[in-house]
Amino acid sequence: MDLLSVMERFPDQESCISHLENVRWGNDPQCPHCDSFEVYNRGDTNLGRIGRWNCQSCSATFKVTAGTIFHGTKIALQKWFLAISLVLNAKKGLSSHQLSRDLKLNQRTAWRMVTCIRAEMARKGSVLLRGIIEADETYIGGKPRRSNNKVDNEPAKRGRGTNKDAIIGVVERGGKVAAELATDLSGKSLLEFISRYVDIDESELMTDEFRSYQRVGKEMKHSIINHQVQYVDGNIHTNTIEGFWSLLKRAWYGSHHHYQTTYTPLYVAEACYKYNYRDIDEVFDKFLNESMILN
Ligand SMILES: [Zn+2]
Repeated sequence: MDLLSVMERFPDQESCISHLENVRWGNDPQCPHCDSFEVYNRGDTNLGRIGRWNCQSCSATFKVTAGTIFHGTKIALQKWFLAISLVLNAKKGLSSHQLSRDLKLNQRTAWRMVTCIRAEMARKGSVLLRGIIEADETYIGGKPRRSNNKVDNEPAKRGRGTNKDAIIGVVERGGKVAAELATDLSGKSLLEFISRYVDIDESELMTDEFRSYQRVGKEMKHSIINHQVQYVDGNIHTNTIEGFWSLLKRAWYGSHHHYQTTYTPLYVAEACYKYNYRDIDEVFDKFLNESMILN
């Protein structure tokens, strides 16, 4: 959803609260502390108290945001909704600096919000893939490689054997993707990762010639494209996952200004979430709805 639509649909704190209440509770507001339905709302209009409920069973006060990413926030919910929309719509990633300028927030607040939104994407990201599956790894982290550096003749190391973070990924052709930070690239670890996201009995795996995939190939149908020789052999290629890697890298370098890898898992989760729901028009509503489901 674009920003203008968010602002029209959610012009103030009341409209945001009542939308979230409807999503979370329908017509039956419930105390998050004791699960009682004996609750009442005083209809307070003071900004910090809008949407505050009292429980008659346990005497607690609570809001619809209890336990969600909006829990205890002092930022107006409309800004949160705008931030979610900005993050979801940013094809090349969104830095907290940009968000702080767009929404007139201080930079630390913007950073906390965008980190929360990414963590929520990570929490809701689980998939099961089936069919033709491509698996591959890539590396992110460190400063972008310098080009045309005539002083330093040593080319930056790339690929397997660098000290950047390794990301492993699997994608179903025409379907969804799963990716995460790899602890190592042993056959055992790759098999564990692939088994977690892929229905291995009903799928065929396509990879390059990296030897660790041979371990995986003992457990499922496996075709190899030897990149020393060619990149496509009929149906056998890894172009889909390579396409996802380029999206991930564009977003990573577009939104990440510190070149440290602490938050790499969250950037990976964001890229997966956007890729997986790329065809859903109402991904904004999907995100809000899921943020009200606690587990
Ligand atoms: Zn209660």
